[in-house]
Amino acid sequence: MSEPIPNSTSARKPVRMCVRCHRITDAPVVVAEVHQNSGPGWNMYACPQCASHFPPVPDVIDLFPSRRGPGEDGAG
Ligand SMILES: [Zn+2]
Repeated sequence: MSEPIPNSTSARKPVRMCVRCHRITDAPVVVAEVHQNSGPGWNMYACPQCASHFPPVPDVIDLFPSRRGPGEDGAG
């Protein structure tokens, strides 16, 4: 009854889309880490050819940089 079903998805490679040339690569290289204020962040990948054009992975790329709160501007 429980015959093993050939799972074709198990053969999938961890492909990613290159952020530079937008081509799918099966050898993705992390070129940046994106963090959000809420929820998990994600990584940006590039293909090996494009990865050499990126600078070293920065610490954090903030899509939503935290603003300075009121009263911290020394106006008071
Ligand atoms: Zn690329």
